[in-house]
Amino acid sequence: VREAGGNNIASLSSKSHKALNRKSLIEKRLLLALDQKNLEVLYQPQLDLNSGEIIAVEALVRWEDEEIGVVPPDELIPIAEETGLINDIGSFVIEEACKQAALWNERGVNLKISINLSVREFRDKNMAKSILNTLSQTNCPASLIQIEITEKFALEAEAESYIIKQMRLLENEGITFVLDDFGTGYASFRYMQLLPIEILKIDQMFIHSLMMSEKTQRLIKGMVQFAKSMNITVLAEGVETEEQLQLLKEFECDIIQGFLISKPVNAKEIKKLINNQK
Ligand code: C2E
Ligand code: CA
Ligand code: CA
Ligand code: CA
Repeated sequence: VREAGGNNIASLSSKSHKALNRKSLIEKRLLLALDQKNLEVLYQPQLDLNSGEIIAVEALVRWEDEEIGVVPPDELIPIAEETGLINDIGSFVIEEACKQAALWNERGVNLKISINLSVREFRDKNMAKSILNTLSQTNCPASLIQIEITEKFALEAEAESYIIKQMRLLENEGITFVLDDFGTGYASFRYMQLLPIEILKIDQMFIHSLMMSEKTQRLIKGMVQFAKSMNITVLAEGVETEEQLQLLKEFECDIIQGFLISKPVNAKEIKKLINNQK
């Protein structure tokens, strides 16, 4: 559609015309926002069920534009991927996260930060190098950074060996990889062999139907057992209720994340949560 001439545009229904307008407005405003670093990163805690401590946080981008208002990630990220601006969002989030992790580290707060990166960002052959650069510029130990990739990422990485090379390079430096949204995408099991995955994140869709379906319970139990047998840590995301937590404990899930612990909040709020814990 982007290359479409005037005639094609005119023949679009008014609904898709509106969507197109919104998209180009978002693109235009996002460029500006990135330039002025007018985005924000919130953090959602991940609770280790064995120690009962918050051991990590997931970095989630937030953008509220003066003109457009809040643009939620589910709308923002696909548009950013399409336009290539995802690389700039990635650089912004990586830098913010590394600065924050370094700061916490200096203050004796032991927290890893998990960053969402898309396959498109790893198509940049300098991706690994630029992450390592940011780590050294911000004085952030690599071991404090986790990278969340999706099954779609894994599928595409398989066909592009230099992506896997970059992952291995980062892994050697101490960065951990998380397979996000596990169970929703393509044939997942092969990637456990192929990619340096240390944590498997069971998609929240499963967690949300946990109490309704015995089948889902068996499925999750099976996923946890599978991960354990592969020596992979299991994290359940989207945990909202005490009942879900109890079952996940029973299944010996390692880590949970979700509204039950906290919604995504700013770094100050994370510090408060940690202090209250002690
Ligand atoms: P995700 O990586 O699967 O992130 C989890 C999403 O679930 C987040 O939505 C989070 O706020 C939400 N969530 C957490 N706990 C609960 C819960 O208990 N219940 C429910 N219903 N939801 C929960 P968010 O922040 O809107 O992000 C949506 C998606 O956008 C993310 O899904 C991720 O794929 C993408 N995204 C967000 N930030 C970034 C980023 O910085 N870079 C990239 N590439 N993608 C991002
Ligand atoms: Ca994620
Ligand atoms: Ca997820
Ligand atoms: Ca998701």
